[in-house]
Amino acid sequence: MSVETQKETLGFQTEVKQLLHLMIHSLYSNKEIFLRELISNASDAVDKLRFEALSKPELLEGGAELKIRVSFDKDANTVTLEDNGIGMSRDDAITHLGTIAKSGTADFMKNLSGDQKKDSHLIGQFGVGFYSAFIVADKVEVFSRRAGLDASEGVHWASKGEGEFEIATIDKADRGTRIVLHLKSGEDEFADGWRLRNIIKKYSDHIALPIELPKEQAAAEGEEKPAEEWETVNRASALWTRPRTEIKDEEYQEFYKHIGHDYENPLSWSHNKVEGKLEYSSLLYVPARAPFDLYQREAPKGLKLYVQRVFVMDQAESFLPLYLRFIKGVVDSNDLSLNVSREILQKDPIIDSMKSALTKRVLDMLEKLAKNEPEQYKGFWKNFGQVMKEGPAEDFANKEKIAGLLRFASTQGEEGEQVVSLAEYLARAKEGQDKIYYLTGETYAQVKNSPHLEVFRKKGIEVLLLTDRIDEWLMSYLNEFDGKSFVDVARGDLDLGNLDSEEEKKEAEEVAKAKEGLVERIKASLGDAVSEVRVSHRLTDSPAILAIGEQDLGMQMRQILEASGQKVPDSKPIFEFNPAHPLIEKLDGEQSEERFGDLSHILFDQAALAAGDSLKDPAAYVRRLNKLLVELSI
Ligand code: ADP
Repeated sequence: MSVETQKETLGFQTEVKQLLHLMIHSLYSNKEIFLRELISNASDAVDKLRFEALSKPELLEGGAELKIRVSFDKDANTVTLEDNGIGMSRDDAITHLGTIAKSGTADFMKNLSGDQKKDSHLIGQFGVGFYSAFIVADKVEVFSRRAGLDASEGVHWASKGEGEFEIATIDKADRGTRIVLHLKSGEDEFADGWRLRNIIKKYSDHIALPIELPKEQAAAEGEEKPAEEWETVNRASALWTRPRTEIKDEEYQEFYKHIGHDYENPLSWSHNKVEGKLEYSSLLYVPARAPFDLYQREAPKGLKLYVQRVFVMDQAESFLPLYLRFIKGVVDSNDLSLNVSREILQKDPIIDSMKSALTKRVLDMLEKLAKNEPEQYKGFWKNFGQVMKEGPAEDFANKEKIAGLLRFASTQGEEGEQVVSLAEYLARAKEGQDKIYYLTGETYAQVKNSPHLEVFRKKGIEVLLLTDRIDEWLMSYLNEFDGKSFVDVARGDLDLGNLDSEEEKKEAEEVAKAKEGLVERIKASLGDAVSEVRVSHRLTDSPAILAIGEQDLGMQMRQILEASGQKVPDSKPIFEFNPAHPLIEKLDGEQSEERFGDLSHILFDQAALAAGDSLKDPAAYVRRLNKLLVELSI
C-alpha cells in the first residue's frame, strides 16, 4: 500500500447524491449491468489514450498491450477492474466522480417522481455510468493515474456512496485506472469467475479491446498455486468492421448501449459499408426514447468518429443535420486524416457528401420502420416527432422524404393521436380533391370543435389538426406533398375547388349578392376591428367565424415571434357570417342601430373565442351580452 498524502473528504454534488440514492434503490432488478457500465468507461478511456498517443507517443509509456482486466477475490468479497487507458488526475477524479457535468441535470432530477418503477425508466434515459458500481458495492475505491503524469501524481478515490468521498494523492506506477468494488453482503455471487465471464460475454462481447479474466486454475490440492495467467473472454474486434450477417441482434443492442449511454434497446439500426470513391463504415441507431435534454442547445449530439478504427472524437456533429440529432452511432472513415479537427470537419467537402449519404440512410431506416413496424413507429413519433418537424426547414433536399415521415392528428384519425401520414390522407381523399386541408390551433379540443370544420364535416372531407407549437412554422415550409398543395382552412377565401358542385357555387354567389346590404351594415358597425366582412360558405351550424388574411401571420407564429421579443405586424381578421343562421336572420331584420351594433360585436367576439383567441375588451363583451339577456327576460 503506497503512502497517501493531501488526503481530504469532499461532498458529492446534490445531483450525484440523488442519482446514487435512486440507483441503489431502483436498479436492483438488473444488478449485473454495473459491469457493463464500468467496462464501457474503461473502453472509452483506452480509446482516448490511443487517440492522444497519436500526437504524443510517449503517453504509451513503453507500449504494453491495451486491455481491460477483471479479477475477483472471494475471501475479500471484491471485484476489481483495471484498464491501462488515459487514467485520471486528482482533479479529474474530483470532477468526474463527484459531479455530473451534463447540462440540465438539475431539471432532470426534479422530474423524478419517487415512484421507483417510473424513475428507473427515467434513469435509463440519463445513463447510469460509473455510479452503477454502488448497486452492488457498499464501498468503491478508484486508483488512477493520468497518462503522462509522474508516478507520484496518482490518485486514490474512495466512497461508500453516502454523500461524500475521500481523495488522496498516491504513487501509482502504471498509467490507467483500477476500480475495486467491495461487494455488499449478499452480492458475493459476483466474486466468481463463471458469473463474471457470462456477464462479460452477454454485455461486452462487442468491446473492441481484450477483456481478460484470470484463467481458471486447476491446481490440485497441496500443489503450489500456479503463476497468474489471464485469458481473453470477449471477441475483441470492432463490431462495425464485422460482416452484418455474422452479428446477432443482441450484439447490435449491447453495442448501442455502450456508445449511446442508454439503458434500453434501440428501436432500429442500419449498418453499412461504403466502398468506392469514399470508403467508410457506419452504424446508426434510432433510440427508443428521447433523451431528457433533446431540446437543450448544449446537449451532446453527433456520432462517434473513428478513422481507420482509431477513435478520433465523440459527438462529431458534422455528419448529420440538426433535426436528426437524436441518432446515435459510429462512423469509421478511411479517407480522413487521423488528426482531423472539428473545424476541418465543418469545411471538408468529403464530410458534405458523407453527411448527405448518412442522412438518406437514416431517412430510409425510418421509412422502413414506419412501413414494417407501424406500432414501433408510433412510439418513435411520440418521442421524436417534434424534432422531425424541424426537418423540412433545415433540409430542403429531403423535404418530400421527410414529409412522408410526418404524422398528424386528423378529423379521421385516432382521437388526438398523431398517426395519419400524408400518403394515407391522400389515399382516402375525396374524388376531385386536389388539396391537403389542415387547421392549426392551441389544443386538440379547440381545433376539433372549431367552426372552421363545419363545411368539411358536412362534405366528409378529412382535415389535419395541428396543435404543436412548431406546426404553423412547419407548414410555411411544406407547400406541397405528392403534387398536392396544403391549404389552411382558417385562411383566406376558402375555395373548395371541385369539391363544390356548380350548383353550390352558383347558389353561394346569389346569396352573397342578396346579402350585400347586410355586409355593408356589419362593416360599418365593426369598423376598424376587421379587414373585411363577407358571407361564409364554411359554416353550417355557427353564426359567424373569423378567417385569417391570406398573407397574415397565424396565431402560433404570432405568439412565437412575440415570445422572442419581435415586433409583430398588426393584422385584422376577416369576419364571415352564415346567412342561414337564425341569429344572423335576426340581425338582418334588426331595426334598432344600437341593438344591431351590440349583436354584431357579440358575434364578432364569440367568433374570436371559438378560434381560441382572447378578447381585446372582455368587459365590453360581457356588458353587451348582459344587456341583451336583461332585455330577453323582460
Ligand atoms: P459518462 O461515462 O456518461 O461520462 P460516468 O459517470 O460513467 O459518465 O463517468 C464519468 C467520467 O469519469 C467519465 O466521463 C470519465 O471522464 C471518467 N471515468 C470513468 N471511468 C473512467 C476510467 N476507467 N478511466 C478514465 N476515466 C474514467
